[in-house]
Formats: sequence, C-alpha cells, structure tokens
Amino acid sequence: MLTELIKTERVKQLLPEIKAFMAEEVFPYDLAWSKMPFFQLESTLNALREKVRAKGWWLPNFDPHYGGQGLNLLEHAFIAEAIGGSPFGYYLFNCQAPDIGNMELLHIAGTPAQCEIYLKPLSEGKIRSCFAMTEPEFAGSNPVRMGTLAVKEGDEYIINGHKWFTTAFDGSAFTIVMAVTDPTAAPHQRASMVIVPTDTPGLKMVRNLPIMGHTGEGWVSHSEIRFENVRVPASNLLGREGQGFALAQVRLGPGRIHHCMRWMGICERAFDLMCRYAAQREIEDGRTLGDLQMVQQMIAESRAEIDAAKLMTLSTALLIEKAGQKAAAEDVSSIKFFTAKILNQVLDRAIQVHGGLGITDDTILALFYREERAARIYDGTDETHKASLARKILKRYAVSKG
Ligand SMILES: Cc1cc2nc3c(=O)[nH]c(=O)nc-3n(C[C@H](O)[C@H](O)[C@H](O)COP(=O)(O)OP(=O)(O)OC[C@H]3O[C@@H](n4cnc5c(N)ncnc54)[C@H](O)[C@@H]3O)c2cc1C
Repeated sequence: MLTELIKTERVKQLLPEIKAFMAEEVFPYDLAWSKMPFFQLESTLNALREKVRAKGWWLPNFDPHYGGQGLNLLEHAFIAEAIGGSPFGYYLFNCQAPDIGNMELLHIAGTPAQCEIYLKPLSEGKIRSCFAMTEPEFAGSNPVRMGTLAVKEGDEYIINGHKWFTTAFDGSAFTIVMAVTDPTAAPHQRASMVIVPTDTPGLKMVRNLPIMGHTGEGWVSHSEIRFENVRVPASNLLGREGQGFALAQVRLGPGRIHHCMRWMGICERAFDLMCRYAAQREIEDGRTLGDLQMVQQMIAESRAEIDAAKLMTLSTALLIEKAGQKAAAEDVSSIKFFTAKILNQVLDRAIQVHGGLGITDDTILALFYREERAARIYDGTDETHKASLARKILKRYAVSKG
C-alpha cells in the first residue's frame, strides 16, 4: 500500500520498536488500567513514561528544545497510529490532549516567561493542563457567543464564568481559559486566552461529568468548573487581547489531525480483535463466524473504510507539512467527520461480531465505543465541519450564503 512508500527512514526505524513496546508493555494491560481510578494508576503510567523518554520517543512531534523528537506531522501520523490503539498510548508518549494542544499554543504564542513557567514543566510531563472554552449555557459550535468575562483592573484580570467539558481539569496545574475581554468588539475579536493556575482562589471544580455512566478522574475526566472573581496577573494573557479565536484555530487545527491519527490506531485494534474473534468463534462444527458471509462483509467493509480514512489522514498531514494549516483547511474538515464516522462504524461492527461479549467490559471495545462516540462532537461537531467544508466548496460555485 501507498503508506509503505511514504515512510521515512526515521519512521521505518522507530515503528517496529514502538510497536513491540506497545504489544509487550501496554496492550496486554490497558483494559485493566482503564478500570482503575486514574490517580491510583498514575505511578504505573509514570514508570512507563520514563521508559518512553529513555528510549528517545518522548513528545514525538515537538520541538527538540523542549525534549521532543522533532518528527514532522506525516512521520508522527505513523507513530500516532501505533500508540493510539491504547487509551493510554498518547499519554505515555506525552502527546495527549489537551496538553499537546496547550504546548503547541504556548510554543507559538507564549512569552519567554510563560514558556518557562508553563510550557517547560508540561513538556517534561511534570504537570498537566487543560483548556476551558465550552460553556453549558451557550452552543459550543458557535463559541463567539460566550458568557465568561475577563475584566482588566490595574495589572490584573478578574475572571467570572462557567465552563464545562474542561477535559483533564481534575489534578491539572493550569488551564487556558477563553474569556470575553471586549464585548463591544467584532465577534471574532471579543475573546482572549488567559492562563489561570488551577489553585487560584475562586476557580472551582463543580463536578466531573458522568459520561454514559462513567465518571472518570484526573486526566481521564471532563469537568464542570466555575470562575468566581478569579484574579490573575495581566501578564497571564496569551498572545494579544482579542486574539482568542485566532489562537483557538492554532490549537484546534493540529488537534484535529492528532485525533484522526489516534482513531486510526483504535480502528486497527478493533479490526484486529474482530478478525481474531471471527476466526476462532465456532458457530457450528468446523465453521467459525469468519465463514459467514455477513461477517466477512463487516470485515471487508471495515478494511476498505479504515484504509480510505488512513490515506485521507496521511494526505492531510502531508499537505499541512508542505503547504501549511490554511491550505489544508478543507482536508482537515473532511477527515474530522469522515474518520470519526469510520471509527464509530468499525467499533460498532467489532462489537457486533463479538455478540454479547462485545458490550461487556471484558474486551476494550466497549470502552472505545463509550469514549469515542464523542469523536463526532469534540473539536467541532460533524455538522459544523460538513457545513464549513460545503460552504468553502460552494463559494467556488459563487454560492455566497447558507
Ligand atoms: C469528550 C469531550 C471532550 C471535550 N473537551 C473539551 C475541552 O477540553 N475544552 C472545551 O472547551 N470543550 C471541550 N468539549 C466541548 C466541545 O468542544 C463541544 O461539545 C462542541 O464544540 C459542541 O458544542 P456543544 O456541546 O455546546 O453543542 P451545540 O453547539 O449546542 O450543538 C449541538 C448539536 O447541534 C448541531 N449543530 C451545531 N452546529 C450546527 C450547524 N452549523 N449545522 C447543523 N447542525 C449543527 C450538532 O448536531 C451538534 O451536535 C469537549 C466535548 C466532549 C464531548
């Protein structure tokens, strides 16, 4: 397949080693880990993180100045797939959301002091962070409508607001909050990003949100939080006032492709489980599920869909690498909703082939099914990406509204 032809020497060398590490030290254990409270599991993950760092795999796609490996996005796509098949893979390599997005943001827009205080320990894996934009009272799909305010008073910002789905807030050291700094400005210039240490008085966790019956903790959680007269120095502003939405694009652009790459890893793992089970589960003497044409259809369709999504993702990574984020805007929208759909379809089929076993927590499939339904919602819902893509296409046909 084409994917073999575009692997660089660096990737060809790294991939077998990383795949062996995942097969020996992660995949056999991650189902059990996923049933443990995060704070109890953390020391196990930290020990493995040290191994990853010692091997020279830490932060694959980040600046070597900050301990990263400097892989380009296309190279990272291959590594991301290899590690993305475990819910803990990205975390072990320190390229997990929401931290990697914040690292990229600080790297681009942070002052030297902000990079020293926040980016450095984040890149070293010593602290965790989160990103607080979405609010329960306003549609996240149109984030120019937002209630959180950051009012400048002397050399401080005073922040008041209500956020939710702040992933990994629990136990994090700081959040980057999106807040309105000038309600009278044009919609896309109203908001700014401000760094808020999570131990700042007035910043409160209301709860970790229960997701389909599961309330996580630590890195594996999504919090509802409140800012009540939270005061931070004005020097905690990230970038310039009014630049919040421009910076959000900087953060979300790479974030989307990182998710798609990870989803390919999940697809491959689910596909592998589906095929193994189909090959060994006897339906009658001498015949397994894999002998049934309807099961074969699920396997064949899944293979073709995963390959299509993978090629689109790799091609988008290459385009971003060669021509930049802006040139790849349509491709990023396409892969975001397309890959999320394929991911959900493949998981659904893998569960179906496993029968009752598929919906138990005895395999990793149910966890992925529960966690990754959200793939069609976070970092832009299916509908917003489809609308954005269609509008851009139709603009070329001189359709201006809609
Ligand atoms: C697991 C998870 C993690 C998240 N992590 C974070 C985080 O760390 N930080 C953060 O700030 N936010 C986070 N979010 C929030 C996420 O960004 C929002 O959920 C998302 O932007 C959608 O906003 P909303 O939930 O308010 O839905 P709404 O905007 O209210 O939309 C509801 C539905 O309306 C439909 N819709 C919306 N717009 C259109 C359109 N243009 N055309 C047609 N239909 C449309 C869609 O079907 C959509 O699902 C996370 C969400 C999830 C599920």
